[in-house]
Amino acid sequence: MPLLVQKFGGTSVGSIERIEAVADKVISYRNAGNDMVVVVSAMGGETNRLVELARQVDPQARGRELDVLLTTGEQVTIALLAMALEKRGYPARSYTGAQARIMTDSSHNKARIKSIDNVKMTDDLKQGRIVVVAGFQGVDEHNNITTLGRGGSDTTGVALAAALKADECQIFTDVDGVYTTDPRVEPEARRLDTITFEEMLELASLGSKVLQIRAVEFAQKYQVPLRVLSSFEASEGTLITTEYGTDKTMEQALISGIAFNRDEAQLTINGVSDTPGVAYQIIGPISDANIEVDMIVQNVGADGTTDFTFTVHRNDFDTALEALEQTAKRMKAREVSGNNRIVKISIVGVGMRSHAGIASRMFEILATEGINILMISTSEIKISVVVDEKYLELGVRALHDGFDLKTKS
Ligand code: ASP
Ligand code: MG
Repeated sequence: MPLLVQKFGGTSVGSIERIEAVADKVISYRNAGNDMVVVVSAMGGETNRLVELARQVDPQARGRELDVLLTTGEQVTIALLAMALEKRGYPARSYTGAQARIMTDSSHNKARIKSIDNVKMTDDLKQGRIVVVAGFQGVDEHNNITTLGRGGSDTTGVALAAALKADECQIFTDVDGVYTTDPRVEPEARRLDTITFEEMLELASLGSKVLQIRAVEFAQKYQVPLRVLSSFEASEGTLITTEYGTDKTMEQALISGIAFNRDEAQLTINGVSDTPGVAYQIIGPISDANIEVDMIVQNVGADGTTDFTFTVHRNDFDTALEALEQTAKRMKAREVSGNNRIVKISIVGVGMRSHAGIASRMFEILATEGINILMISTSEIKISVVVDEKYLELGVRALHDGFDLKTKS
């Protein structure tokens, strides 16, 4: 019998009616001839409520006791779902992360799964039971309860699918799949039938927040076919898989999607001496201040001096600018400037590997709209540009149109 692991997020189990609806949905897949393992999150908003309770006791609350508290959210939903299944005549058994033997390291609040002992779950499945597992939690070797970091139930789903060698891991959420871009910016954005892990990771890290990044990495590592679909609408969702999939249905588009990031800020230092160690002297103090640098561009030197531009998260702009001004004094640089009204727009697609001219097409599209590009960076399957924030919507829509993402290839 095929085995499906299904994960339902907080909104999908946000009320008793919704939990009942999840039970009906799980049963429909069960009746279609699948063995079923179901992972659930806490009811929507519950984990935040628990965090808030902890803060009232200790604003710094974290570590072991916070994990003991937060895992109660999922303990509620597994029990309610198992009851709903049993009431409908379908034998079910719920497990907390510790009971399911989801073994993690001991990093409380952000633990990593090390192994899963699936003996009991496999036995339940053999007995025809539906297995319901609490997302987001595990247990370390000393029997301490751990959590996997916010949004960690996706990872639980994928890890269980890998451990149980499931045929598919299905993540049910409030969106019905992965889109070519954010439909709030481009109403004609289209749901993708399939996308590769690599593309999904690029889109996720660039700010498309459909799935926890770690879950996608995990699925890629263990080659677990991952499907994102809606709890509320009937649709096939989006299948995330390896480049050529299991069949030949993979879309052969050049570009799969457009991501954007409004959280960027740009800093420039002009007229620093073009000698060894300059990049280190500039970026060193930034990373010492714990600020992550995203794009970096150094100009070709002229007259023995060069310019250096990089981007950071907008929240770090003031601190980074201050650090850079200090550096400029020390290095006797000509000038420092900054701009926190920029955005990054990226096109992503594995098709870039085998097709030349994608970058030039991108620049042509932006030029036609009169959009000035401030910075460019590329990787194997991605081209990013930094532009003034006022061009975000225009740029995304023009690229979506120009690369024909509205129509299915
Ligand atoms: N309930 C946890 C959270 O809100 C885990 C999850 O939903 O994935 O972060
Ligand atoms: Mg979630």
